[in-house]
Amino acid sequence: MDHFDLLIIGGGSSGAALAYEAVRRGLRVALLEAGDPGQGTSSRSTKLLHGGVRYLELAFKQLDAAQLKLVREALSERQYWIDQAPFLAQPLRIALPTQGPIEQAYYRMGLGMYDLLAGSAGLDPSRGMDRQQLQAALPGLDPERHGAVLYSDGQFDDARLNLLLLLTAESAGAVVQRDCAVIDFEHDGGQVIAAVARGCDGSTTRWPARCIVNATGIQADRLRSLAQPDCRERLLVSRGVHLVLEQQLCPAGTGLLIPKTSDGRVMFVLPFQGRTLVGTTDSPCAVAEATSVSAAEETFLMDHLRRWFPGQPTLTISSRWAGGRPLIQPDSERGSSKVVREHEVERLDCGLISLLGGKWTTCRVLAVDALRAVAAQLNQTLPAPEPLPLLGAGSSPEQTLASLPALRARLEQLTPAGALQHQQIDHLIANYGLHAEQVLGQGLDPSDATPLSAVVPVCRAEWRYNIRFEWAKTSADLLERRSRIAFLDQAEAERLTPAAESLLLASSISPINHQPKP
Ligand SMILES: Cc1cc2nc3c(=O)[nH]c(=O)nc-3n(C[C@H](O)[C@H](O)[C@H](O)COP(=O)(O)OP(=O)(O)OC[C@H]3O[C@@H](n4cnc5c(N)ncnc54)[C@H](O)[C@@H]3O)c2cc1C
Repeated sequence: MDHFDLLIIGGGSSGAALAYEAVRRGLRVALLEAGDPGQGTSSRSTKLLHGGVRYLELAFKQLDAAQLKLVREALSERQYWIDQAPFLAQPLRIALPTQGPIEQAYYRMGLGMYDLLAGSAGLDPSRGMDRQQLQAALPGLDPERHGAVLYSDGQFDDARLNLLLLLTAESAGAVVQRDCAVIDFEHDGGQVIAAVARGCDGSTTRWPARCIVNATGIQADRLRSLAQPDCRERLLVSRGVHLVLEQQLCPAGTGLLIPKTSDGRVMFVLPFQGRTLVGTTDSPCAVAEATSVSAAEETFLMDHLRRWFPGQPTLTISSRWAGGRPLIQPDSERGSSKVVREHEVERLDCGLISLLGGKWTTCRVLAVDALRAVAAQLNQTLPAPEPLPLLGAGSSPEQTLASLPALRARLEQLTPAGALQHQQIDHLIANYGLHAEQVLGQGLDPSDATPLSAVVPVCRAEWRYNIRFEWAKTSADLLERRSRIAFLDQAEAERLTPAAESLLLASSISPINHQPKP
């Protein structure tokens, strides 16, 4: 194994953003991921690119300038991602319901401040909504709601962005190894000099590097204590549960932010690929329990939903998932929903750098902060970053947007005509951007472009592309993260599993795995 400048452990949003930013600055980078990239918290988020309305309120209530800075920084990052990957990240309008003129004035002022903080990175400015407008946007909503303030944030596909960051870093020279879990460190003179990793076949490999970064999310404390057994724990894990409903509660594309649940938290009801995403809870938990949905949490979310949407008599859960927030432990005894979501780049005496906390929207800020610590450890000044568009994006945001209509027209010729054709074209563009045509090029015969599901119109050509060029190795990779079928509809994912597995088996014995990347 060659010596790398930077070894990153963990292929979630933090590790992926760091790999991407590091190769842009000419570093020799390797990234090890224990399983499939994005399999941790980074594919289980609420999928919002946001400054955080809740954090803005906290900033004012606690007169906390650090919290305000965090909101402003995140609003600027929100725009960055919408520009870089407009095919998978778009503005989303969200209604914040109010109970009368005083509350309406309070939230209008707060959301006006949210717009102001965004500055030139602002989306549609916030505005008031009366009862009729609110009912038109969210038809099943309790008619007792007097009105709302409508504001904008971003919505994106977290697993796809995670993957594109890593694939782009790889295309620029990073070595990315999936199924490679770090189990130990080697030291020299008290300093970590290499990581020891175990592959899925049980074999171990040694990865020496000049600098090692721990980007393992909620597992970060485990890696820190492997590197330096006497270090104290820094993280608090808080589990967030989401439900997906078959019914569209947001048919006009406007989401709802419930400002206060019975225990004082916020809850989102959002449009999500033709269905409704509801979440999230916020309960402290052990690392091992971060991805399990408890019956109590499901009941909590459903109770609130029934109360807020009495006009929707049938609510069917088609999928549920949970993810663990890696929060930095507060100094005092505060509830986890009140912990400032600031990240920290920590360096232990043994030289291991850990990325703690953070949020998806600001993963690039975390990566740039981490690079400062990396540069200090390497004892070198890093050059300015080279431009590196994400795979599927054009050379500039304008060029990406300008290319999409012509791409859409070409996809009309390549996809089978039928009831799902437009949905399939939307899906291909949303997932692969300007590479959508190459995806269909992976079909062996024309039927490979036929959609296999009405929930998400994936096709066999797409699965071949995921296997050849996007590291997919299991049916869960195909159905959970390359497309989001399992996150939308678990029964549909089960139905498709045998077809996905037989294609994976056929691909593993065919030479197509060794073709060059497009
Ligand atoms: C419910 C929920 C909703 C959220 N919603 C939003 C949102 O809407 N917007 C937003 O901006 N932020 C959101 N966040 C925050 C955001 O999702 C997280 O901050 C972010 O995804 C954390 O990324 P990460 O890379 O640090 O961790 P992870 O995504 O967990 O990545 C860590 C990776 O490390 C790997 N790993 C672990 N141990 C090892 C090892 N020994 N060797 C190799 N690899 C290892 C894991 O397999 C994993 O893939 C949300 C968080 C939660 C929990």
